Amino acid sequence: MAPLFILSGPSGCGKSTVIRTLLASEPDRPLRLSVSATTRKARPGEEHGVHYWFWQRDQFLQEVEAGAFLEWAEVYGNCYGTLQREVGPYRQQGIGVILDIDTQGARQVKQQCPDAIRILLRTSSMSAYEERLKKRGTETEESLQRRVAAAQRELDRAADYEYTVINDDLETAVAALRKIIERLFPKD
Ligand code: ADP
Ligand code: 5GP
Repeated sequence: MAPLFILSGPSGCGKSTVIRTLLASEPDRPLRLSVSATTRKARPGEEHGVHYWFWQRDQFLQEVEAGAFLEWAEVYGNCYGTLQREVGPYRQQGIGVILDIDTQGARQVKQQCPDAIRILLRTSSMSAYEERLKKRGTETEESLQRRVAAAQRELDRAADYEYTVINDDLETAVAALRKIIERLFPKD
């Protein structure tokens, strides 16, 4: 069974960017990012089935009832969840899976899959999250403040993660993540 990697960290720390850059630089490695379902609205440029499965709350709750999720949680006022079908079948075929999920979800996954490897992505400075979110320009003032206010809580909850990667410099962070993945999931 191929490994399961969980990447968590405060909003704006660079999770999506680091994962996207890593996957683009490793086309030969059998590794994929799980596409989560969410009730939040798509940002400009985000596509259904690529960045997320964008669902109405009714549909999300129906899928919860149907047992479709490996985990789900309410994060910054919306529901987010990892679908079983995005993870298990791939791991069984030898394809490693990365989850970009919050610390509540990570705790649930770790209970069900104790072999999952949890990686915390963070920056050295606490002010970087707000600066990056402002620069990204995707959040309303309310959403931005909610995310910034939760940053310390996410870091505290991730205290027992197996690895920490600092994303002050993108290339350094991608190289550090690649090293962890290579050690646990060598190419041959
Ligand atoms: P997350 O998925 O953790 O919320 P993103 O990947 O969307 O974060 O990154 C938040 C913003 O920070 C984006 O605009 C991204 O381009 C930028 N960013 C990511 N990594 C770095 C970095 N090392 N240095 C400066 N900006 C970065
Ligand atoms: P965003 O709205 O910025 O895309 O994501 C907000 C937060 O939700 C991030 O911390 C991200 O890791 C988390 N998240 C994304 N997908 C999932 C998921 O499937 N489950 C859980 N628990 N959190 C998720």
